[in-house]
Amino acid sequence: MKAKIISENKIKTKILLEDTMPEEANAIRRTIISEVPTLAIEDVVITNNSSAMYDEVIALRLGLIPLKTDLKLLKLPEKCSCKGKGCNKCRVEFYLKEKGPKTVYSGDLKTETGFEPVIKDIPITKLFEGQEINLKAVAVLGKGLEHAKWVPGMVSYSYFPKIKVKPHTEKEAKECIKNCTSEAIKLEKGKIVVDNTNLAISEIKDSCLEACKNIINIEWDETKIIMTIESWEQLDAKTMFNESLKILKENYEELLKEIKKTIN
Ligand SMILES: [Zn+2]
Repeated sequence: MKAKIISENKIKTKILLEDTMPEEANAIRRTIISEVPTLAIEDVVITNNSSAMYDEVIALRLGLIPLKTDLKLLKLPEKCSCKGKGCNKCRVEFYLKEKGPKTVYSGDLKTETGFEPVIKDIPITKLFEGQEINLKAVAVLGKGLEHAKWVPGMVSYSYFPKIKVKPHTEKEAKECIKNCTSEAIKLEKGKIVVDNTNLAISEIKDSCLEACKNIINIEWDETKIIMTIESWEQLDAKTMFNESLKILKENYEELLKEIKKTIN
């Protein structure tokens, strides 16, 4: 399989997979969502909470804050040299100490490490005059299959469309373009012209395919897949993709070992 990034920004990345099939793309999608680890708050010790929110609700809200993750520096607790007891290679501590009146945001979480919340303005709770919150939170790496708070993002894929233009009138062309705002489909001198380049095609919208169905003929290339990775920003899309391949390889080797054991 060949993989090439065709567009990327902070949140959404599109990767073109060639010489592949849906089973491979789906394995990558499932691995990213359920097995690529990210950092999230798992344990919270609350020493004071006089806000209107219960301790459990505060803890749940803290768990859902996306935290910057570095898989080169952090280890999963079960794979750490401390064997899950907890050390600075597998846990990150945060502190929150605030007094009302104010709204407490994710950005108020203090840590001596670089693993800060990626979004600073997520409200945690509101404190009125005289109310206080004081807690320590411990974040660990975890996987999406254990809890959705560790999911690094969303992944989807589709076949690569090849679009051909059928003979059409100017009226039909204008009708098509009226309901289609895609870079791939343009009106030039009263005729519809299709830009079949990777980037333009990857941006094509379903509304265009519907609006222009009398003018264009779509064929799906079953060996080429466009994968869209949306990151919640704990990890970038490239890391999510590469980590999923590493994990798939490890899982495959593990499976081979198990099969050999069974045969023997
Ligand atoms: Zn450890």
